[in-house]
Amino acid sequence: MADVNKCGHELCHCPANGDSKYCSQHCEDAVDQDLTEIACDCGHSGCE
Ligand SMILES: [Zn+2]
Ligand SMILES: [Zn+2]
Repeated sequence: MADVNKCGHELCHCPANGDSKYCSQHCEDAVDQDLTEIACDCGHSGCE
């Protein structure tokens, strides 16, 4: 079984979005800016 294309944000449990490595712009920015978050804040239900 192929690995699920998961969001690149360490604390995020969402699947990545299509051709992106992340589920959302929020996660991409957070990783890009090296933000240290205590929880994912992408806004997707079930992810915190
Ligand atoms: Zn998330
Ligand atoms: Zn994410």
